Amino acid sequence: LSADSLRQRLSAPEACVTIVDRGWCVTCPIGGDAAPWSAVVGRLARDLELVERGRDEHRLRVAHAPLDTAKAEPPPAAPVATSGPQLSRRGLFAALANPKTLRPPQAVHLRQADVAPEPVDATALIERFDWLKGLSSSAVLPAALFPAATIADTCCINRVCVRACPTGALQTFAETSRKGIMFDAPLCIACGACAQACPTGSMSISPAAAGLFSGPVVLREERFVTCSRCAADFTPNSDDEEVCPACHKDVDVARLGHALFRPRTAARGDETVT
Ligand code: SF4
Ligand code: SF4
Repeated sequence: LSADSLRQRLSAPEACVTIVDRGWCVTCPIGGDAAPWSAVVGRLARDLELVERGRDEHRLRVAHAPLDTAKAEPPPAAPVATSGPQLSRRGLFAALANPKTLRPPQAVHLRQADVAPEPVDATALIERFDWLKGLSSSAVLPAALFPAATIADTCCINRVCVRACPTGALQTFAETSRKGIMFDAPLCIACGACAQACPTGSMSISPAAAGLFSGPVVLREERFVTCSRCAADFTPNSDDEEVCPACHKDVDVARLGHALFRPRTAARGDETVT
C-alpha cells in the first residue's frame, strides 16, 4: 500500500485493517507456535482502538480473520545446505580442543545477490512516517498509548533512575529555585531499568497511563536555594534558611570554640581575671 492509498482507505467510513493468519507458524521447523504474533497484534489492536476514540474522522480497526490451516498453502521449503564441511558434534569439540586438527578455513565465495540488500523505496517509507507524524501531532492522543511512571514520596532525588534510563525518557531539570525529575512517556519503552535501579523502591512503571496524553510531566521536584557562604545549592527546611547545613555546622563549631576560649572577665574591684 502506498501512503496515499492507505490514507484514502482509512478515511472511508468502514475502513478496516485485516490481519490474515495462514496457519504456517505452527508448522515452523525451528519452533512451532500457533500465534507468535498475538502479543504484537493485541497491542496494535488496542492502540488503534485508542486512537480511534480520540479521532472521529477515521475508523481504524483490526479484524482477525485466520484461514483454515488445512486449506492453507504450505510455506516454501527452507533451503538446505548441500555443500561445505561436514562435522559431527563430537568432531567439532575435538577440533576446538586441539586447534592443530582444525582444517584450514575454506574460502567462501559470496555472490553479489547474496549480500546486496533489497532495494527499499525510501520515498514511500518517508511518506508513511510523515503521515504517522501528522496523525500523532494533530490528534489528542490517549495517555494509555504510553507507559506511566510514578515516584513515591520516599524518593530522595538521587537521580539514579535518570542515569539508568536507556532512552532518555527520564531527565533532570533545574530552574531558578527548583529542580527535579521529568518523564517523557513516548520515549519510555517500559523496560523497568529505572525501577530496578532505584535504591529506595520509589519508582514504579505501569504499561499504560490514564486520561489524555499532555506531554512531559514532572515526577519529582525540590526547592533549592544557594548558600550565602559557600554558594552551593541546598534544599532549605524553612523559608528563611540561607546557609547550607555544612556551613551552618562550621558556624556552630566556630561559635562553640569562641564560647570555650574567649577571655572570661569577672569584676573583682578593678582586677581582671583571664
Ligand atoms: S526514584 Fe529512586 S532512583 Fe529515582 S531519584 Fe528517587 S530515589 Fe533516586
Ligand atoms: S522504564 Fe525504561 S525507558 Fe521507561 S523510564 Fe524507566 S528506564 Fe527509562
